Amino acid sequence: FSKLTYNEYVNSDGVRVVLGKDEYPRANATLLTLVRNQELKDIIHTLRQLEANWNHKFHYPYTFTNDEPFTDEFKETIRRHTVSDCYFEVIPPEIWNKPSNIDPDIEREKISKLTEKGVLYIDKDSYHNMCRFNSGYFYHLERLKQFKYYWRFEPATDYYCSVDYDLFKFMEDNNKTYGFTISLYDNPLTVETLWPVTLDFLKENPQYVHPNGAFRWLTENVQHPDYTKTTGGYSTCHFWSNFEIGDMDFYRGEAYTKWMDALEEAGGFYYERWGDAPVHSVGLGLFEDRSKIHWFRDIGYHHSPYKNIPNSDKCNAPEDSGYFSPEDVYDQNCLSNWIRLEM
Ligand code: GDP
Ligand code: MN
Repeated sequence: FSKLTYNEYVNSDGVRVVLGKDEYPRANATLLTLVRNQELKDIIHTLRQLEANWNHKFHYPYTFTNDEPFTDEFKETIRRHTVSDCYFEVIPPEIWNKPSNIDPDIEREKISKLTEKGVLYIDKDSYHNMCRFNSGYFYHLERLKQFKYYWRFEPATDYYCSVDYDLFKFMEDNNKTYGFTISLYDNPLTVETLWPVTLDFLKENPQYVHPNGAFRWLTENVQHPDYTKTTGGYSTCHFWSNFEIGDMDFYRGEAYTKWMDALEEAGGFYYERWGDAPVHSVGLGLFEDRSKIHWFRDIGYHHSPYKNIPNSDKCNAPEDSGYFSPEDVYDQNCLSNWIRLEM
């Protein structure tokens, strides 16, 4: 008996055995996406790559979430592309919609100022709902309560490399809370008060700060010192969350939950445009041991306009799309800040 990888072994007769869907003992995990009916083609594009490069070996279930019911066409098409269990979940309006503490007058004033400054998506209500949902509430959905780990994926993203091992078991076996591939600076205007609100919270609740947090990473920005002036100290460097693998029990824990309440009260999901990427990142950087955060350097990933392409023959990445000039792309990349911390 020799183990080849998580789901394969050579038995005593020397025969290679691959464990099937009902034999392989999976971690408690789901692949997860928030998607609209009209994005069916784009989600199939990504699902096919996830299956071909990884999930056909392990058959982790998929959870599709939406603020509207999925059409039969959507569900049937998805089911034709995987043998894994698929869950289709409608997000309850009380989780998705703008909460009642948001003052429409303050909101109008703040949003019109940020619109003048050209902040992307700033006047799109659904975008604010999406950011808030992905920051604080997806892990409370009835369906997701049964799972510990999630792998977030998005329509029209690419997974370029074949990965042989079970990424969820990797998280479990190595006691990791969070994994990412790409790390970027954000537009500081979207998070002007996130850091000050957080510091106020920490003044009242210093016990939640992890002694081995990633404090320097949260505040260091040599490339764009002006960013930290706008944000009151946050570098804006964050793990890009359109791909992420995480342990939802971290978000469900006391520190993140209480902090989320404080963020909610401050209203920045609507008065500004706090993204779920900076919110997850600040939460992790403050309340989690930084050794539990993992850079998945072996996951070839693309969400326009950024890519992580490992130098490996297991990857099949096409030529650069040329969507942004490299100067723009590299200017926003802050991965080296994290790597310095890991060393
Ligand atoms: P970006 O990556 O920041 O440009 O934002 P996206 O437009 O890609 O949105 C992020 C994710 O949320 C994608 O998976 C979208 O399909 C999804 N999404 C955004 N807004 C909505 C919405 O109003 N309803 C649903 N169901 N999904 C949404
Ligand atoms: Mn996207």
